[in-house]
This record gives sequence, structure tokens and C-alpha cells, in this order.
Amino acid sequence: MDIITEGHLYQNTLLTFTEAAQLMNLDPNVFERLKRPKRSIIVSVPTRMDDGSVKVFTGYRVQHSSTLGPCKGGIRYHESVNLSEVAALAMLMTFKCSLVGLPLGGAKGGVQVNATKLSRAEKQRLTRRYTSEISPFIGPEKDIPAPDIGTDSQTMAWLMDTYSQEVGHAVPGVVTGKPIEIGGSLGRNTSTGRGAVFVVEEALNHLKMKQDKSIRVVVQGFGEVGASAAQCSYDLGLSVVAVSDVSGGIYNSKGLNINQVKDYYSKNKTLKGYPEAEAVTNEALLELPCEVLIPSAVDGVINSKNASKISAKIISEGANGPVTHDAHQILIERGIFVIPDFLANAGGVIVSYFEWVQDLQNFFWSEKEINSRLREIMTTTFKNVLQQSQAQKIDLRKAAMVTAVKRVSTAMLLRGLYPQ
Ligand code: GLU
Repeated sequence: MDIITEGHLYQNTLLTFTEAAQLMNLDPNVFERLKRPKRSIIVSVPTRMDDGSVKVFTGYRVQHSSTLGPCKGGIRYHESVNLSEVAALAMLMTFKCSLVGLPLGGAKGGVQVNATKLSRAEKQRLTRRYTSEISPFIGPEKDIPAPDIGTDSQTMAWLMDTYSQEVGHAVPGVVTGKPIEIGGSLGRNTSTGRGAVFVVEEALNHLKMKQDKSIRVVVQGFGEVGASAAQCSYDLGLSVVAVSDVSGGIYNSKGLNINQVKDYYSKNKTLKGYPEAEAVTNEALLELPCEVLIPSAVDGVINSKNASKISAKIISEGANGPVTHDAHQILIERGIFVIPDFLANAGGVIVSYFEWVQDLQNFFWSEKEINSRLREIMTTTFKNVLQQSQAQKIDLRKAAMVTAVKRVSTAMLLRGLYPQ
């Protein structure tokens, strides 16, 4: 193990990849190459704080693979960010883009910082300096960042502006998840949650379960992913019984009115104190009685300690890596239908791809068109993965990984190794 491979998330991702590689008899040279990222960049991000002092943060951009096309992946601002975590997430992006058939490789970026403690001005200065430090390595043909935990469309606007100032003209295609006014795509901010619910619809169909109020949904996380997953489930007529943010969760066994919860959240910036619901901790929330669980916050929340206590029949992984490798095994043995992250949350990067294509063509699509193309990719991929899992008698995560690795590996072998 070294500085790249030492983290839990990297180890987990590597285990899933290794199992798939064995199942499919992957070419050993391809396996060795995909086990590590193509390029890892570590930068110092000196940032002037509002009190005049200068703090130096550490930033990363890891490009795992560019075999299928330009690298693609979000930027995370969080205290836990480190090289190994970013590298694991970059590898996951390679498999995510490959699985859903995008002509893109995988990357991830991050800055080790608690963004909630920064003022808007500090966050802007940090973003601009970070962008400037990685700017030789990004661009519409090279590597296209996007939002992730702790970053949003405003952060992407600063990134786009900094890059554009450096090259001397507007380059909207350098980043996705931007505001609509500067080349963003309709439907991008709800796309990850929406996609995570599209696959729940498919799973309910497959398991011959009804799509009505009898289906209780629990969503962990109320950021862009969690809030839109809750909204889409609610709009579908399912009963969203619990949601949570970092401060904890709210639970009502009869179902929450998500429109009201959203209003409350935007006024109070927290779910805490929401009336008509009881407070639950984020840990207890995962174990609530429900049919569908959508963990959409951070990784590792379902682990060997609580996997036997999860009551859901279907888990749609809105977050990256919410279920550890050990826990996944327990859930599968218990017959829980787990839709893996790099399928369940691929809606974000799919609409990012649409945004990039629209930027390159300077021609923008309607929200209806975007959502229907998103649904088509999500459901087709779901059906392919399900078919593969049934044919080979393997779980969905393995089936998805085999499908994803196959596409990258075929492309790698066609391109060959440089130099020979
Ligand atoms: N951060 C998101 C993810 O983990 C989106 C990445 C993107 O749109 O490039 O999938």
C-alpha cells in the first residue's frame, strides 16, 4: 500500500474491481494499468482569508483514465479529502462513464477544507487559486470538472471564469454543473437524484412491487442529490418517510410533504426543528422500516456494524461508496437489491455530458429532451446490468463492474500501450 492506495475507499473500490477482473479473466496488463490512476496532481492553494491572513490548503486533481475520452469528474471541498480518497473517486468515475456509455474517462478533484466555515469571498478566492493551479491540466478536450460535495453551480462559475480569463476567451465547456446563464444545462442540478429514482422505478417493476404510497422511502442527505431524490420519489407518489442533513434526520411514518420540507430547509438552512416529524439520528435513519433506502451523503455509512439492521428491500446508492465492501456482502446475503453507486448516481455525469456537448455545439436542448434522454440511458443500462447479473448469477455491482471494465479494456487494447 502507498499514499494512493492506502485509504478505505480505494481499498473497497479495488476489491470490487479485482473481483470483476477475476470473473471476466481480464488481461493482466490491463488490470495492472487500471489499478492506478494515470496522473495525480497535488497543489498548494494559498488563500487570503477575510482577516488578512493567508492559509495554505492542499488541493488534488487525479485523472484515472482518458482511454475513452477526456477525463470527467467532480470537485469536492471537504475536511476528509486526501489523495487516496480522490484517487478512489476518480477510478469510480472511469467505471461510471464507461458503464453508461459516455465517451469520457474518469477524474476527481478536491480541496481539504471545511467549506461551510468559509465566507463566500474566501470560497471564491480558494476556487480561483485552485483552478489556476490545475489549469494546465484541465480543458474541454482534457479534463472537465463538475460539482461534488461542498461545491455548487456558483463554484463552477468561478472555475469557468478563472480558466477563461487565463486563456483570454470564454470557455464554457471547461466545466459542467454551471449556472444556466453561462452555458449550464437545464436539469443538471436535479439529474443525480432523478437518475437514482429512475433506477428505483425499474427495480420496483422488476421485483413486482407497486409504485404507490405503500412504498416507504428513506433518503439520507439533503444536498443536491438527496433533495432531488426525495422530490422525485414524492412526485412519483411514493411515501418519503424520512430525510436527513448533517445535523440529523426527520421521520414521519405517514410520509413527509417534501415541498414543505424543502421550503423549511431553504428558510432555516437545516432540517432540525421541522414540525410534524420526529427527530432521528443519521445512524438510526438508515435502520428505519422502509422499502427503499437512498443513501445520498458520504461514503461508508452502511458498514459491517449496521448492515444486518437495514430493513430496506431496495438500496439505490445516491452517494459514492455509501456501502462498504463487507457490508455489501451482508446485504446481498440478506436478499437486499442493491443498485451500485456507479449506476445509481450516474445521472449527474450523464447530464454533465449533455451540458458539455451543448457547450461545444453552442446549441441548447429543452429540459424535456434532457430528462427523456437521461431516463433512456439509465433504464437501458439498468436492464443490461440486470440481464448480465441474472445470466452470470452474480450481484448487480459485479455485473455493472464487469460491463464497465469490459468497455474500457477493449478500448485500451485497441489503442495499445505507448511506447510499445
Ligand atoms: N460529482 C458527480 C459524480 O460523482 C458528478 C461528476 C460529473 O458530472 O462530472 O458523479
